[in-house]
Amino acid sequence: MKWTKIEVRTGSRNEFIDITNRLSEALEKSGVLNGTCYVYMPHTTAGLTINENADPDVVRDILAGLSRLVPMKGDYRHAEGNSDAHIKASLMGFSLMVPIIEGRLALGTWQGLYFCEFDGPRNRQVMVGFTTE
Ligand code: ZN
Repeated sequence: MKWTKIEVRTGSRNEFIDITNRLSEALEKSGVLNGTCYVYMPHTTAGLTINENADPDVVRDILAGLSRLVPMKGDYRHAEGNSDAHIKASLMGFSLMVPIIEGRLALGTWQGLYFCEFDGPRNRQVMVGFTTE
């Protein structure tokens, strides 16, 4: 499988960036009509998730909920001081799979694919690969 790198510039410490369109563009270029889309991210303080991209309050509420679950300050030992970001990243995960049907990502009507930044702003990378059935 050939992997394509997508550069993502994040703008704040905690934010979700909708990368659905960039993945759809990469899929179109690949020419794959039916198969599987894999998305991977080589970072430890950012993650990937799929969730609603219709109402922006959903992302706001997820970020607020994660910060309640995992406060920035706590009983952490990691000297870099960003343990909250590492924990949030592991909660989201580092890879995703989406079916490809008739040349399109088979996402639900309200679904978008998000890059989840927890220790920005930074220059990040996402790797996307497509396989045919
Ligand atoms: Zn760290």
